[in-house]
Amino acid sequence: MMKSIICQEPYIFKMTNSEKTECHPGEALVRIKRIGICGTDLHAFRGNQPFFTYPRILGHELSGIVEKVNSDNSEIKVGDQVTVLPYLECGKCIACRSGKTNCCSTLSVLGVHEDGGMREYISVPVDHVIKTNNLTLDEASMIEPLSIGAHAVRRASLRKGEKVLVIGAGPIGLAVMSFAILEGATVVAMDINEERLKFCLSSIGVFDSIVPNEESITKLREMFNGELPETVFEATGNVHSMNSSFQYPEQGGKLVFVGLVNDQITFSDPEFHRKELTLLSSRNATKDDFYYVKQSLENRKININEFITHRCTFENLPSTFSDWLKPESKVIKAVVEL
Ligand SMILES: [Zn+2]
Ligand SMILES: [Zn+2]
Repeated sequence: MMKSIICQEPYIFKMTNSEKTECHPGEALVRIKRIGICGTDLHAFRGNQPFFTYPRILGHELSGIVEKVNSDNSEIKVGDQVTVLPYLECGKCIACRSGKTNCCSTLSVLGVHEDGGMREYISVPVDHVIKTNNLTLDEASMIEPLSIGAHAVRRASLRKGEKVLVIGAGPIGLAVMSFAILEGATVVAMDINEERLKFCLSSIGVFDSIVPNEESITKLREMFNGELPETVFEATGNVHSMNSSFQYPEQGGKLVFVGLVNDQITFSDPEFHRKELTLLSSRNATKDDFYYVKQSLENRKININEFITHRCTFENLPSTFSDWLKPESKVIKAVVEL
């Protein structure tokens, strides 16, 4: 038997007991040890995640121990510590054929479109588990959110010394900053939360930080030797912030939407054209991004020790989760332990 936490309807979590998940041919059965909580889970719990249906088992930032492998040709062995690649792609569509499995036309994400990992066991295609024997369980569960940031940075193909602005200092924004710095960029963090900006300076090592206001453009020019950032990453998922982000890139610059909003984005076409901006979106991540993040963690190239601010046990999750929705809880990243 195994326990699962089901999001029955918005604001209702139910702990259930059911048969242990079956491990079908081609799959690996993973005993879940850590579940990272992210904005998607919070939005789903609140009932404001677009295209979301209930009941649903949430959870897509996972790490655990392999308990069974139902496949002959896999390097994965029983007892391996792993993270799960939660994006199930078709492998056949044009996006998949060109390696962009992250935006497969029929992509199904564990914990979003189908049941995820808020349970003691999950069985997933064996090529969707990645060995993380050299990392801690906490680190392994952070590979997914970090990969979202790493993917956005890869989309932007930064140069060494490139001037970069990252808007939004939530977990994804922090990941973008970390990997942009790793690429040699000069990174400025922007957020309305001054405490978060302090964290960016002390823990992430950004070059400078800025609170958005009427003087943002002037201040950015001061920080960047009279120029504006060449690449701007938008990681707030806030429509007002996204609309106003078009003003920040330099002539010929890039704007990358990492955050997603269920709304229309509007911008001034003359401004867009005058600068000949390149607008990019960034969605999920690929297996290559996961390997890159794993390696960066193994080689201590990025520091995430202070990302996890809150944790609780699996049993206490239903009673604790709503506390994490409150801004005063100051959650950066919360993790569930099993
Ligand atoms: Zn997430
Ligand atoms: Zn596909």
